Amino acid sequence: MKLRFSGTGDSGQVPCFGCDCLACQRARLLSCHRREPCCGEIELDGDLILIDAGRMDLAARCERQRPAAILLTHYHADHVQGLLHLRWGRGESIPVYGPKDPQGCADLHKNPGILDFQPGLKPFRPLQLGRLEVTPLPLNHSKPTLGYALSDGVNRLAWLCDTVGLPGATESFLTEWRPHGVVIDATHPDSYIAPRNHNNVAMALEIIERIQPSRAWLTHISHELDADFLATSRTLPEGVELAADGSDILF
Ligand SMILES: [Zn+2]
Ligand SMILES: [Zn+2]
Ligand SMILES: [Zn+2]
Repeated sequence: MKLRFSGTGDSGQVPCFGCDCLACQRARLLSCHRREPCCGEIELDGDLILIDAGRMDLAARCERQRPAAILLTHYHADHVQGLLHLRWGRGESIPVYGPKDPQGCADLHKNPGILDFQPGLKPFRPLQLGRLEVTPLPLNHSKPTLGYALSDGVNRLAWLCDTVGLPGATESFLTEWRPHGVVIDATHPDSYIAPRNHNNVAMALEIIERIQPSRAWLTHISHELDADFLATSRTLPEGVELAADGSDILF
């Protein structure tokens, strides 16, 4: 199973429009430091499965390979806005899985085009996509939101975005399931005390410490967090890193 981080930013992205903080200046100069909306691509047995769809160039990217399925974590714009264009494409429909959220986003459910929205996933009820087993995990966010436990039968990866903390049942599942890798929301620097919808770095690290994966990646990163790392040269515990757009992880 291969995971590509196709976007690792928050909804404002990096650089953030009109901001001249050091992180935004750096991202304008060096494209490797830019961050698109948080999303990922899983490749397994030649199939491409997308996790979230917030990149505005989603349709162009899908020209390279048509996704076999799209998994949505939730219906905030930064996770689905690429679908508003992709849906008007041609050819076979693309199955889209996500949480039960009748409101969805804009008119996506009313005018789905080629997107085949499946009934809302039930927490902890696994879905099989080829060889990939996908278990939906409830998260804490301002809209109905699911993380995903992904297994190819050998390797286990948990995708936990967007969330602040974890519901007890999700944490118990993960402690028992023992993922090799965890990708987790760490939107804010620690100066954000008691954030309401996203983890700060300390909160994400506490969760990682409790779940004990061999590797973990912080994602959904704001320009403020990048600026904080630049200003403080902060280091992360062994096995934990800031995710970067375009990087591939082989499991
Ligand atoms: Zn900035
Ligand atoms: Zn969100
Ligand atoms: Zn988000």
